Amino acid sequence: EDDTDQFEPEIPSVTFDDIGGLRGEKQRLREAVTKPVEYSDTFRQAGYSVGQGILLHGPPGNGKTMLAKAVANDLAYQFLSVKGPELEQPLVGVSEDQLRELFQTAREHAPSVIFFDEFDSLAPSRKTDTPVWKDDLVNTLLSELDGLEPLADVIVMAATNRLNELDDAVLRSGRFDTFIEIPSPSLEEQVEIFAVHIADLPAAEDVTTEWFGSLRLSDLSGADIMAVCRKALEFAVRDFDAGSTQRLVVTRANIQAAVERLRSELQE
Ligand code: ATP
Repeated sequence: EDDTDQFEPEIPSVTFDDIGGLRGEKQRLREAVTKPVEYSDTFRQAGYSVGQGILLHGPPGNGKTMLAKAVANDLAYQFLSVKGPELEQPLVGVSEDQLRELFQTAREHAPSVIFFDEFDSLAPSRKTDTPVWKDDLVNTLLSELDGLEPLADVIVMAATNRLNELDDAVLRSGRFDTFIEIPSPSLEEQVEIFAVHIADLPAAEDVTTEWFGSLRLSDLSGADIMAVCRKALEFAVRDFDAGSTQRLVVTRANIQAAVERLRSELQE
């Protein structure tokens, strides 16, 4: 088995345009990463490194992973990601080796973006009862972050739903210099997210973004809106009579039924 395949580096296909809402947040990412990379010579001449480390934080399912991928896409950088819990193997040395492997692969495939999802589980604030293997893992992370050469073209991004549960030393390492909050979408942003997802579906003519906005589904995350569109398509396909001369369409009723279904699933 080829070790470098473990983290499957690739240039992601997600673009900033695939992400509904989050205008200010996309702008800040461009400012903090894309632009400095573009002008990296100037930054370096001035003695600044580029794209130190970006931490995205906020409630689940609102586009943190998509944003990290869009950054890589925008720069045409390789993207390597790992979820914190994937490295939770309380076997001596195994997780640390994997972590070193990740950084090694990122350097080999540079320019690249390393993305840590569920970062709080990889770098939790350490307490007296923190198991030794976890402590070792955080220390390995710190030394890998410190060891990244400023000019090595490896950008580190991380996402967490629990900013206040992150290890202090990791936050103070100087590696993460840009913190961007990714909040739950406003009603207006929900409509923009819906627009992104419905564009890919054979929607009925009256399934407009205005109509969706009028439902005022204030509690849905971006991931929920994606799930609603997917479920609505499932319902449309279920009801579709393949022998008929009508074409397959996703109706308002399909979407409303999908919302109901999601709500009842969430209550379970
Ligand atoms: P987690 O904290 O659970 O990792 P996340 O914030 O990283 O969540 P993503 O993985 O980026 O969220 O989003 C999950 C899915 O939800 C996406 O693949 C996409 O289909 C949909 N989604 C979330 N936010 C948006 C958005 N702003 N625009 C379009 N789709 C979105």
